[in-house]
Amino acid sequence: MDCLFCKIIADEIPSTKVYEDDKVLAFKDINPMAPVHILIIPKVHIEGANALDSDNVGVVSDIMLTARRIAEELGLSEGWRLVTNVGEHGGQTVKHLHFHLLGGKKLNTELA
Ligand code: AMP
Ligand code: ZN
Repeated sequence: MDCLFCKIIADEIPSTKVYEDDKVLAFKDINPMAPVHILIIPKVHIEGANALDSDNVGVVSDIMLTARRIAEELGLSEGWRLVTNVGEHGGQTVKHLHFHLLGGKKLNTELA
């Protein structure tokens, strides 16, 4: 499948991995928007939040818990943000579900 993040999962494209288990991979965003900018993705290919259903939504819990653990490990006790972009208007450029974990500074509160 011609998917950038599936290739990262398969180690066909290099990444700086932060966490990995059988369901989830977390790696550093190549173009960080904050001192901490990590992408957390399911290992199974899901195109985006619009493709979630009752069969595959469980991985979102795994991603949320992964985000919470990474935030704790990186000492983001002052706060952090988890964002997923959906579709063209949402600014989604990679069609594999991913959540941006952002932190390490006081983040801009203007979301849109
Ligand atoms: P989005 O705009 O929500 O689809 O986010 C896609 C993100 O993937 C962007 O923040 C990019 O900087 C990031 N990205 C693109 N290619 C790579 C890569 N090879 N390794 C790490 N992050 C990447
Ligand atoms: Zn994929």
